[in-house]
Amino acid sequence: MSEPRNYLDGNVAAGELSTIFTMDVTTAEGQCAHCGAIKRFAEAHLYMQAPGVVARCAVCEHVLLRLVNARQHMFLDARGMTYLRLDM
Ligand SMILES: [Zn+2]
Repeated sequence: MSEPRNYLDGNVAAGELSTIFTMDVTTAEGQCAHCGAIKRFAEAHLYMQAPGVVARCAVCEHVLLRLVNARQHMFLDARGMTYLRLDM
């Protein structure tokens, strides 16, 4: 019997990320800076229990991206990804 998931998939971040990116980030492909896995952002494990959004690698659970909305400021930390490739 498997444990219940305590995360959502990266698609859930689409609304929050659309305040920063005009393109759909969930379809973008990114590389985890920790394990090198290359996956679509929609496959990331998304945790919403923290203040803001935390996306973790589906392979190694390393933090890929953090997004915190604090009053009039949006903080984006994407150093957990080597790159994020957006299709034009
Ligand atoms: Zn990884």
